[in-house]
Amino acid sequence: MAEQAPTGTVPAVPATGREWHLTARPDGWPVPADFALVEAPVRQPAEGEVLVRNLHLSVDPYMRGRMNDVKSYVPPFQLGKAMDGGAVGEVIASNAEGFAVGDTVLHGLGWREYATFPAKHAVRVDGALAPLSYYLGALGMPGMTAYAGLLEVASFKPGDTVFVSGAAGAVGSLVGQIARLKGAKRVIGSAGSAAKVATLLDGYGFDAAFNYKDAPVREQLAAAAPEGIDVYFDNVGGDHLEAAIGALNLHGRVTLCGAIAQYNDTAAPAGPRNLALAIGKRLRLQGMLVRDHDSLQPRFLEEVGGWLREGALTYDETVVDGVEHTVDAFLGLLRGDNTGKMVVRLAH
Ligand code: NDP
Repeated sequence: MAEQAPTGTVPAVPATGREWHLTARPDGWPVPADFALVEAPVRQPAEGEVLVRNLHLSVDPYMRGRMNDVKSYVPPFQLGKAMDGGAVGEVIASNAEGFAVGDTVLHGLGWREYATFPAKHAVRVDGALAPLSYYLGALGMPGMTAYAGLLEVASFKPGDTVFVSGAAGAVGSLVGQIARLKGAKRVIGSAGSAAKVATLLDGYGFDAAFNYKDAPVREQLAAAAPEGIDVYFDNVGGDHLEAAIGALNLHGRVTLCGAIAQYNDTAAPAGPRNLALAIGKRLRLQGMLVRDHDSLQPRFLEEVGGWLREGALTYDETVVDGVEHTVDAFLGLLRGDNTGKMVVRLAH
């Protein structure tokens, strides 16, 4: 267990730790002034609680939605309070049966160095099976999103031609590779730079890929998919979704997973203007939330874990060091600075 401190070297419990607060609700693109890094007391665990020193923090696109004061499937961040999100850390004090100092756990109190919370919210993770940060990505929420969104929501079947947007990101890179491993006829991806397109083709085994910034998606998709597509995994929305509706074959299926192209919009988005095509083509467009697919978890871990161990699946991370750079990592994620999963590393 590379990342687990041996007995006797567990860090002492500090009096204070740093945590990020949202101080203003972004109007359009978030800016650093919307956030503050605050020094706060570290609380000793009460009965049934653990105190965790975070090792890796997750920044994810859905967090942008939580910065708006709107009702959604996750509550908004509160102004002036600690933000939260996925994190992996090590237990440095335990007052809970079954959890010992040195245990490594996945939990929901990220955006901070230390977290004290009921042990029932901690999921034990094993650094001997995979690097601990993978539980925030390939073996965690984004991996599960790709697996469930492709296999269950899009009802993928061997022989399908699959198009995925955001294809060099955490979810998209896994969607394309899972489709390939499961017998897709053709896998097509779009991403936002030439370097990412090269990674899709050479690193992840996509059959075709394009940079959506080079020319209209509709034109590039038509060239990449001369026989049309059967599945579209949508991480982006907007013109990508419109182009995919145009390219979909009869009985095509769309997983509506994300719409990152519009997360910072201040006006209602346009389109897709060709939605009526779904009637004649008998398309199915289905929204998804990863949390509805918990029953797939054991199969997902076995299959994706196996592919990672065998080297059949390539998984990249973009790592930003230091809690003080969490906002930079989040803003970078929205801009497309990441290939694979964006993670913040607090300690090795
Ligand atoms: P990614 O790792 O894919 O990171 C986000 C990427 O979005 C960036 O790297 C950038 O890549 C791309 N992007 C940013 N702006 C645009 C734009 N205007 N047009 C096209 N691409 C853009 O994030 P995740 O893999 O974590 O998430 C992918 C999607 O899945 C998001 O929409 C997210 O909200 C959604 N999601 C949904 C879940 C659910 O349960 N429904 C669960 C998890 C994620 P590039 O350089 O290519 O532009």
